[in-house]
Amino acid sequence: MAKPKVALYWAASCGGCDVAVLDTNEKILDIANIVDIVFWPIAIDFKYHHVEAMEDGSIDLCLFNGAIRTSEHERIAKLLRAKSKVMVAFGACACFGGIPALANFTNRAEIFARAYVEAPSNANTNSTFPQTLSSVNGHKLELPEFFDTVLTLAQVVDVEYFIPGCPPPVDIILKVVELFATGQMPPVGAVIASDKTLCDECERIKEDKKITKIYRPHEIIPDPKKCLLEQGIICCGPATRGGCGQRCIQANMPCRGCFGPPPGIIDQGAKLVSAIASIYQGNEEKEIAKMVAEVLDPAGTFYRFGLADSMLKRKRLQHS
Ligand code: SF4
Ligand code: SF4
Ligand code: SF4
Repeated sequence: MAKPKVALYWAASCGGCDVAVLDTNEKILDIANIVDIVFWPIAIDFKYHHVEAMEDGSIDLCLFNGAIRTSEHERIAKLLRAKSKVMVAFGACACFGGIPALANFTNRAEIFARAYVEAPSNANTNSTFPQTLSSVNGHKLELPEFFDTVLTLAQVVDVEYFIPGCPPPVDIILKVVELFATGQMPPVGAVIASDKTLCDECERIKEDKKITKIYRPHEIIPDPKKCLLEQGIICCGPATRGGCGQRCIQANMPCRGCFGPPPGIIDQGAKLVSAIASIYQGNEEKEIAKMVAEVLDPAGTFYRFGLADSMLKRKRLQHS
């Protein structure tokens, strides 16, 4: 019997999601035994025209990592969607926008100005910016368009499954391959992780303690048995889906929220703000202002992985 055909692709990605697949170590050989990898830019030299030549629907499973930042990402997402029976948003960037979507707090004009003109290492007195079309010595050069706003994969094409994580843990990757190979995938639309919050899975002692101060992780050595949030360290556990094996909590570090919002929560950042507000002791305006000031990067703390998928989606800027 023919092996299922699998494609893997990276869009606006750091490469970590692809490395997570390689982190299956010797089990990658088991994966290669049960599926036929037909496209994987990081590892195998296939070109886009090879994918274009495939029949529509001829790829059984596409694991797509990275957010949609450029017209190339959008084009390949649509191409792989057409060629694939099952499309999976693989990793926090594809699912929620992830770290690249923090750029939605600014826009293309500001990013280009910073990157190509204002950065101290630049010598760009003519304020030259990349163009989508240019001509050099009679040769036409084309670059993808850099979008103003970073999008999630599902904001561009239909997606059957979501595998969260930055990157997804190896045990979930192996489980998905096994479920797929044995025809046991969950109902379409499923997030392949836990249906509980991370707090529900966390075994640290919770004492319903109120906090009076926010600490950054390097400012305090937390008790490894007690809830980090109740020790004043912002931990995204109350607003994050479980299933990662509590990777950060086990290392005595707070959760950053890479598994996205738990079921029923549409805005991870808003949920986290409300969870922190509920354990903060102090009702006076001065006390609240003090605590808010202690969160040095509120946007990055509350929307580190989920801005593109949040109710905000992006910061509203003049002219954007
Ligand atoms: S989810 Fe994390 S590991 Fe994967 S591409 Fe995004 S930043 Fe990298
Ligand atoms: S806030 Fe963090 S440390 Fe506290 S119970 Fe939740 S996951 Fe555990
Ligand atoms: S503890 Fe939070 S940030 Fe760390 S891996 Fe799990 S979900 Fe991601």
